[in-house]
Amino acid sequence: MQSLYESAIAGMPDCHAVSVQDDLTLVGPAEQVFAAYDRIVTAAPSYHLTLRVDKCAVYLPDSLSEELSRAEVVDECTTRQLAYSNSLETLGVMLGTDSDVQTHCEGRINALEQCFKTLRHAAMPVQVAFLLLRSCALPSLSFLTRTTPPELLRPSAHRFDELVRTTFFHIMGLSPDRIAKSRIVSAEQLQTMVALPLKRGGMGLRPAERIAPSAYFASAAAILPDFLRAFPALSNRTYSDTELHQQLEACRSLMREQGVAAKAAASPADETDPSTDEVPQAPARPSKYQKRGRKPAVAGAAPSSSPAVSAASEETSMLMCSVNQLWSTAATFSRSKNGDSAAFLQFDKLQRCATQMIEEKVLTQLKNDSTLRRRTLLTANSTLHSSTYLTVLPTQPLYRMSNASLRMAVRHRLGVLPYDSMERQQCMCHLHTSFTSDPDHFHSCVKFKRTLLTQRHNNVVQVLQDLAVTAGFTAIREPNSHVRPEAIASAANLSKEYNHHADLLLLRHGLKLYIDVTVTRPTNESMLRSAPQSVSTIQLYSTRRAAANKHAKYDEIARVNEYRMVPFAVETYGGIGAEATTLLHTMAAHSKEYSAAQFLTHAHARLSVALQSSNADIAQLGMEQLHLRQHAGNPNQFDACQRERDRRNSQYSQPANGNQLQRRVSLIVQAADAKAAEREEEEAAAADESALAFLHERRVGFADVRRILSPSGTVHISA
Ligand SMILES: [Zn+2]
Repeated sequence: MQSLYESAIAGMPDCHAVSVQDDLTLVGPAEQVFAAYDRIVTAAPSYHLTLRVDKCAVYLPDSLSEELSRAEVVDECTTRQLAYSNSLETLGVMLGTDSDVQTHCEGRINALEQCFKTLRHAAMPVQVAFLLLRSCALPSLSFLTRTTPPELLRPSAHRFDELVRTTFFHIMGLSPDRIAKSRIVSAEQLQTMVALPLKRGGMGLRPAERIAPSAYFASAAAILPDFLRAFPALSNRTYSDTELHQQLEACRSLMREQGVAAKAAASPADETDPSTDEVPQAPARPSKYQKRGRKPAVAGAAPSSSPAVSAASEETSMLMCSVNQLWSTAATFSRSKNGDSAAFLQFDKLQRCATQMIEEKVLTQLKNDSTLRRRTLLTANSTLHSSTYLTVLPTQPLYRMSNASLRMAVRHRLGVLPYDSMERQQCMCHLHTSFTSDPDHFHSCVKFKRTLLTQRHNNVVQVLQDLAVTAGFTAIREPNSHVRPEAIASAANLSKEYNHHADLLLLRHGLKLYIDVTVTRPTNESMLRSAPQSVSTIQLYSTRRAAANKHAKYDEIARVNEYRMVPFAVETYGGIGAEATTLLHTMAAHSKEYSAAQFLTHAHARLSVALQSSNADIAQLGMEQLHLRQHAGNPNQFDACQRERDRRNSQYSQPANGNQLQRRVSLIVQAADAKAAEREEEEAAAADESALAFLHERRVGFADVRRILSPSGTVHISA
């Protein structure tokens, strides 16, 4: 194909051919394009190819306004039986009038409606539906955002975003309006949160409207060298008249509104004099080399700033410089390197940089508008691995989450009530916490400390034990046969103190790891009160505290036994403490069956799913308990009557007392029995001795004359 295409445009400098697989687009003056077309028609049979004329079309832009040349083109088309129009769809992009482009975009959204409808189907598991929504449905507009001017895409993008949002709320069984009524979070804030990426504490449903300007800008900037090479006359003439230049400027101003230029004042690129924009100092250059070789600035790098900082500022510098600067950089680039235009700006990831800046601003704004509790929640949600359960593919049973569990987990992540009906309720514990003040109160309620919370703890221990065994460790649950430190050894061996022990002892070669698991909640009332600043801004702060407590508790035992004490502290929101992470890496290093990376992926998936499923259990069973209590509190209910009966009965001896009594009585009875038996034996013996003694053989007996007159001469009397 390549040679066919090349021969078609040979000797025609103004005719350009762009091919993607078997799709060929010819651009240029009419006579050259038609000549090239004729060459292909003629040469095709020698390549054993037939050109489908019915699939070919000519795009006649309205900008071609000269009547005469239009008529000529139409004539040429008719003779070749080619269709012509003032709009043309090529490679999924619509060329034509604004309304044609908008109709095309609307058509794409219409085609996607069915996909969203399927995701909302009741038979679709929630976990699968969410994965499909985020990974398949959401990116379906990204090609349009890269190829359609944002102004034209806006109505369709808005509709698409609305579809994504409503589908998400439908899948998760959430109603933003109902949630807003509880006054925990406004519907707007909730939607902003949902639209944030997972690593910034949201649900990863980034709106197309937000990315449209930077996507189109990045895409248009990347083709600049090709554009300049295709139209060499422009680089000498004034280029600001071109549509491309105007579009770039339009995108740039939209991006500035979104906050991409917010850091411009601080950026070094902007400090360089804007009045002289002849030759820009090619800011992209160093970053490109850096990226390619992955060698952080070896030659001539400024030693003053750290590599990370300089790399970041270079990456963003192309976003900061003016469109004119960008244009002349592209011009320099297209002149200096022939045929390597693919590399232009490809390594700078303009779109990603811009999106990151925008989202940084959105998050800062959201945090400023939020309460302390919700700021803390956002910080906790943005820790690494806190969202693993949302991205893991349910390829094995242990990675699966039930619909109810996943919905609960998402409510937990969004910081809303587990059940909307809880908005006016209080907990039954002595604190009487209202759930609107702390929607996740169940997760640290004292009422459930010994039951539901212990169950969650045990589930995490179990996962850890499984993982350790997979990695080849010997795991001992509740290890209690250690050497006691002196201070404890003297305690009675049934005492609580003497039997103090951590959750797991992991043995492998020379390693002795002493593990204690603890689940913390950064949005806990006491945590928010005692360290509001730290807990709301520092990731994993709550686990640091918990780990320190565990060290204080077990370090002495570990020292005496030469164990290495490792507190495994995780947050209810999924964050994994520093020492816990180290432990997982240690395990991964010992795994022989899997590579370290595979092991860690598996470990995080299992921990995340187990933790969030257990969290869901706490919310569900907690709610059940709450209901039970409420019913018992109602004076007309059966439970209340039962309680009254119990109270009245308590005046009499109760089963507990009865048992005691029975035991005491039975001792006396047994003793009496034994004594009686003894006496009987004594009497029987005495009877043998005295042959003439009277014996009461039977209590009841009548007229047994034969025995009365027995041959032995003994006289028996029957009574
Ligand atoms: Zn409570």
